[in-house]
Amino acid sequence: TIRTRFAPSPTGELHIGNIRTALYAWLFSKQQKGKFILRIENTNFSNTTTDNYIANIFAIMRWLHLDWDEGPYFQSDRLNRYDYIINDMLKYNIAYKCYCSLDRLKMLRLKQMKDGQKPKYDGYCRMKNHMGAISNSNNDCTNNKSNPYVVRFANPLSGKVTFYDHIRGMITVDNTELDDVIICRTNGVPTYNFCVVIDDMDMKITHVIRGEEHINNTPRQINILKSLNATIPQYVHVPIILDGNRQKLSKRHGQVGMITYKDGGFLPEAILNYLVRLGWSYGNQEIFSVEQMKKYFSFNKVSRSASVFDFKRLLWLNNYYINNLPVEYVAKYLLQYMEEQNIDAESIKPKLFDVVQLLSKRSNTLREMVLNFLSIHREFNIFDNPTIADKFLTPIILPILKILIKKLNAISTWTISLIKLAIKETIYELRMDISIIGMPLRIALIGSSNSPELSTIIYFLGKYQALYRLKQAEA
Ligand code: GLU
Repeated sequence: TIRTRFAPSPTGELHIGNIRTALYAWLFSKQQKGKFILRIENTNFSNTTTDNYIANIFAIMRWLHLDWDEGPYFQSDRLNRYDYIINDMLKYNIAYKCYCSLDRLKMLRLKQMKDGQKPKYDGYCRMKNHMGAISNSNNDCTNNKSNPYVVRFANPLSGKVTFYDHIRGMITVDNTELDDVIICRTNGVPTYNFCVVIDDMDMKITHVIRGEEHINNTPRQINILKSLNATIPQYVHVPIILDGNRQKLSKRHGQVGMITYKDGGFLPEAILNYLVRLGWSYGNQEIFSVEQMKKYFSFNKVSRSASVFDFKRLLWLNNYYINNLPVEYVAKYLLQYMEEQNIDAESIKPKLFDVVQLLSKRSNTLREMVLNFLSIHREFNIFDNPTIADKFLTPIILPILKILIKKLNAISTWTISLIKLAIKETIYELRMDISIIGMPLRIALIGSSNSPELSTIIYFLGKYQALYRLKQAEA
């Protein structure tokens, strides 16, 4: 069976790029009835920061319902396994200890660059090693302070590495291009390129799906796998994401942690739908349920070129889902959202469905929905701001106020449709246009014309408050 993995390093918060890669791997494994494995690549360090980032990974994966079938595995639990293999590799001369000082490596690099060559380790210790010039009595990968060394993989000196990438096609690299990659540092900590290989081998990963930034690592990793007689997995390198100016996605253009979207009031449906279409397409279809994604997704249709992040489109999708998912469903998220933001949810609770129904059109996010609601609910008195009062509460609106107050007063069951009717009748009686009365009335009621519909405002204020404020404006 197919086995894919998502292998984030807890060195920062998960962002759009990570999650899109995770989504593709997840969809592919679900579609193929395979397994999706979560692996935390935390060999390098372990501290509170790392722990927070690990917690962030779990929170985001759960929020988006990207459930894993196996794991989470932690590289930090596998250090003995790595040590064991490194020692084996040393024993079989697949790897060697390199004692070259940083100074020597620096000189080497400078010289190579001066000669117009690509910097590359020259195999100095590999040669000495093979001639037996260095005797390794303690053949393990632990730091020897007096004589520090790294362990390098003895990359084949000739031949080529070829692999098929499911998005980019055949890729061939000459072995002479490849360095003897360091697999264990002087402090005894194994490196990314090594651990990832051992993990993919041990976890029987069939498809390595990851960001394009790793494409140069692939031939090195294939060589290590071959040296261990391991099966070579299939590879998929997902293109990078750029901003509208075709620059690397920066903080300013959406390269923020996924948690920012969660806190900003985005729905998982919108995020997943946005990400699946970021670089992949299926005809002209814009909206996909998760079931449809699973069914239709294929790497053939993932574009080779970089994807361009479009925040407006994400907002549009979020608005679409806010308006098209069942009200109860959106309401559940809204409540949860408020609790997470430490907003007093109690006052909104009884009106939750109303809030979703009446404010969804003008809310691109749940945050906007709450802000729209709170803009109605705050304490407000038009005469606290005399300039605005003078400007908008002109004598023209007095007859409007009079009739509207009378009609609202007559409503016994406070429903949005009866309020709408009262407004409609008022306009009709005065032969006036809603556009003329809408603004001053909204200002009289809550102080802002950039606000929800008049009927919505009146409804949420409640009969008592609405009449109180209108009467005050009339006075
Ligand atoms: N830990 C690596 C990263 O976060 C993943 C590498 C891989 O998937 O092979 O970039």
